[in-house]
Amino acid sequence: MSGENDLKSRYQAVMMNAFGPPRKVFVRGEGIHLWDAGGKRYVDLLAGIAVNSLGHGHPAVVEAVTSQLNTLGHISNFFASEAQIRLAERLAAAAGGGKVFFANSGAEANEAAFKLTRLTGRTRLVAMEGSFHGRTMGALAVTHTAKYREPFEPLPGDVTFVPFGDVSALETAVDETVAAVVLEPIQGESGVIPAPDGYLAAARRITSRAGALLWADEVQTGIGRCGELLLSRALGVTADLITVAKGLGNGFPVGACIATGAAAELLTPGGHGSTFGGNPVAAAAGNAVLDVLEDGLLAHVHRVGDWFAAAVTGLHHPDVAGVRGAGLLRGIVLNREVAPRVVELALSQGWVLNAPRPDVLRVAPPLIITEADLEPFVNALPGWLERTDA
Ligand SMILES: *Cc1c(COP(=O)(O)O)cnc(C)c1O
Repeated sequence: MSGENDLKSRYQAVMMNAFGPPRKVFVRGEGIHLWDAGGKRYVDLLAGIAVNSLGHGHPAVVEAVTSQLNTLGHISNFFASEAQIRLAERLAAAAGGGKVFFANSGAEANEAAFKLTRLTGRTRLVAMEGSFHGRTMGALAVTHTAKYREPFEPLPGDVTFVPFGDVSALETAVDETVAAVVLEPIQGESGVIPAPDGYLAAARRITSRAGALLWADEVQTGIGRCGELLLSRALGVTADLITVAKGLGNGFPVGACIATGAAAELLTPGGHGSTFGGNPVAAAAGNAVLDVLEDGLLAHVHRVGDWFAAAVTGLHHPDVAGVRGAGLLRGIVLNREVAPRVVELALSQGWVLNAPRPDVLRVAPPLIITEADLEPFVNALPGWLERTDA
């Protein structure tokens, strides 16, 4: 077998430099653990960026995917499969009723939502400062980060950005020319920033009044990550468009745009499409994930997430300003911009996590993780923070 350095140099020779040099080459995953090429074991607190919700190699997903692939793998959207219909029924039910368009990623789910907004006959979109919606041209148009967006301009236009969480700014921006307001209930990529209490409900009220759609991007927050199938619904809000992806397939690529109410009828044949979207194998993975989530895992996510936030807060460490987020999507906010250094130190000691900003550590582990699994991380954190002084 090739050594890690050899694999890293082969990677750099042949892979486009979209992600910088890889930090590790992993060879195996099981549950909450990963192993590198040298046989070293890691606890995975990143879960492939909030994706591996049931952990690596979960038997329910492995069984669902392999048996579906053995039975019927792909048929195109000229045809239907029961796995796809069943997953659509469950996602629509989670939204309180509606209809589903399947995609293969978060950006693609958002692309579908973006196109639906155009079918309202209006073109203006209102998006949030700090937003992240993906890297395709449409998703990028509503993504705020200038360094992601600007090299690719002109993007689909008519987007106004407003400060996230500011109700009166939203009220001012949304009039009867607006097709949709797009927001994340918690901005994950921006550093795990939850919308202030009542903001989603205000956005619902403001969009309804203007006849605009409310588009909730739950690609990161949805499908159990925050202890709910859909966080927006748990906050008492039914959006017109809800996009999900990351955790839905436990690593098998699948995304969906769920539309409720009149928005569910916007799409007509020819308006949008996808070769792979909602194929039987992807749908089987999604169904397996929902089976496990609905079998008691959501309550576990609440309990472990709350325990973790309290444990980190309880360190009373001078570098820790607080813990934000919900369920098992948590940001440890630091008083110094040392998060990337902590990520490096943690990795060297067998913990995988990332720093979405220089002062925030993101913890988004497999949802099956326990308090006992997380306790050594909490205990090690002060030591890593102290070593960043050097
Ligand atoms: C990750 C993410 C996306 C993009 O998903 P991809 O699968 O990478 O295309 C979109 N929206 C949110 C909120 C995300 O966190």
